[in-house]
Amino acid sequence: MVKPVVAIVGRPNVGKSTIFNRIVGDRISIVEDIPGVTRDRIYSAAEWLTHDFNIIDTGGIDIGDEPFLEQIRAQAQIAIDEADVIIFLTNGREGVTAADEEVAKILYKAKKPVVLAVNKIDNPEMRDQIYDFYSLGFGEPFPISGSHGLGLGDLLDEAAKHFPTDQGDNYDPDTIKFSLIGRPNVGKSSLVNAILGEERVIVSNIAGTTRDAIDSMVTVNGQKYVIIDTAGMRKKGKVYESTEKYSVLRALRAIERSDVVLVVLDGEEGIIEQDKKIAGYAHEAGRAVVIVVNKWDAVEKDEKTMKAFEQNIREHFLFLDYAPIVFLSALTKKRIHTLIPMIDMASENHARRVETSVLNDVIMDAVAMNPTPTDNGKRLKIYYTTQVAVSPPTFVVFVNDPELMHFSYQRFLENRIRDAFGFEGTPIKIFARERK
Ligand code: GDP
Ligand code: GDP
Repeated sequence: MVKPVVAIVGRPNVGKSTIFNRIVGDRISIVEDIPGVTRDRIYSAAEWLTHDFNIIDTGGIDIGDEPFLEQIRAQAQIAIDEADVIIFLTNGREGVTAADEEVAKILYKAKKPVVLAVNKIDNPEMRDQIYDFYSLGFGEPFPISGSHGLGLGDLLDEAAKHFPTDQGDNYDPDTIKFSLIGRPNVGKSSLVNAILGEERVIVSNIAGTTRDAIDSMVTVNGQKYVIIDTAGMRKKGKVYESTEKYSVLRALRAIERSDVVLVVLDGEEGIIEQDKKIAGYAHEAGRAVVIVVNKWDAVEKDEKTMKAFEQNIREHFLFLDYAPIVFLSALTKKRIHTLIPMIDMASENHARRVETSVLNDVIMDAVAMNPTPTDNGKRLKIYYTTQVAVSPPTFVVFVNDPELMHFSYQRFLENRIRDAFGFEGTPIKIFARERK
C-alpha cells in the first residue's frame, strides 16, 4: 500500500508549519511561537480517523537565493508534483494578498484537488473574514486555527474525500522494488543507466502508477524488479533539483516504496554529513540496505584503499553494520553485475522467516554462553522467543521483566541471531515483552 500524500502550500507566515505540526501531532515536539523553528521537519506520516497518509510542509523547502515569488511558485509546483491533495493555506487576519493570488494561479493549472483553508480564525466571531477567500476560486474556504487546533477535523475530512482509492503499486507481489538514494552527483542516474544497459537485463517497459510514472521495470533471469525513481533522475535541470530538502523528500518517498535501498556514495569525494543523514533515513525506515561506492574508477588506489574506505564507512555508519558494501563504477561498468545478486540477497533476508524451534535453540545457547544481566539482584529470565514479522525480521523475546533487558544484552542477542541465520543486508528488530 502506498499512502496518500497531502501537501500544505501557501505564502510565508500563514501558519503552514503550525498546521503541519498539529496534524502530525505528538510525533514531533510542539511548535514554539517563533516562525521557522520547526523548519527542519517537512515530511511525516500522519493519521486522521481511519486514514493513514503522509504530509509535506512545502514551506520548509527553500530554493537557494531565488526571489520570494519564485520560492513560493516552486513550492506550489513541488506540491503539485508530489501530492494527491493540496491544502492551500491563507491567513484570515490579512485577507487575500497578491502572493495568495500567485499561488492560486499555479494551483489552477494542477489537475490535483485543492482544499482552501483560512488560518488564524481563532474564534467564531472571526468567521466572517473567510468570505473574501471565495475570490481565489477554490470553492468553500475552511476556517481553521492552527494555534488553537480548531477546524482541522473538517479540513482533513474534506482532504480525505479526495484520497485516491487505488493506492496499490500494481506490481506483482514477488517483484523486488529498489531505489538508489544519495546526494546529487554521486552517480544515481548513471548507475540506473548502467543497470538498464546490462546484457542480461531485459527492460520490459517504463511505466508504473500514475503518480510515479518514471519507475523502470526490468527482468533478470526471470526475476522482476522495479527501479524506483528519485529526484536526481527525474528533475534534472529544474530550479529545485539542487535543494537539499527536496532531495531528501524525494528520497524518503522512494525509500517508503522500496524493499531494498541502495545508499550511493561517491568514492572520489568520500563521505560527507549529508550522506550520513540519507543513510539514516534508510535505516530508520527498516528497509534492506546495500551500500554502493560509485566512481571507484576515479580513485587512485593501492591494495589498502578499499579496506580503508570500508573502515571509514563502518565508522561513519555504525547503525548500518548489516549492510554489505560494493565498490563499482557506473562509468566503466566494473562490478555493475554484482549489484543484482546483492539486491536479491538483501531482499531475501529482509523477508526471511526462521523456524521457531531453531530460534529458541540459538537464544538458549546464547544465554548459556553469556548469562543474562542482573539488576539489584534481580536476573533477566528469557522464556521464549518468536519471530512476529518479516520485512524487516522482528523478534519478540518473552521475559520476566523487560526493564532488565539492557541495550548491550539485546545487541548481543541480535548478533547471535545474525551469526546463526545470516540476515546480511537487513535490519532486525528485537523487543522484550513481559510474559503474562
Ligand atoms: P509558515 O511560515 O506558513 O510555516 O507559518 P508558521 O507556522 O511559522 O506561523 C507563522 C506565525 O503565525 C507564527 O508566529 C505562529 O505562531 C502564528 N500562527 C500560526 N497559526 C496561527 C493561528 O491559528 N492563529 C494565530 N493567531 N497565529 C497563528
Ligand atoms: P546523480 O545526480 O546522483 O544522478 O549523478 P549522475 O548520474 O548525474 O552523475 C553525476 C556525475 O558523475 C556525472 O558527471 C557522471 O558522468 C559522473 N559519474 C557517474 N558515475 C561515475 C563513475 O562511476 N565514475 C566517474 N568517474 N564518474 C561518474
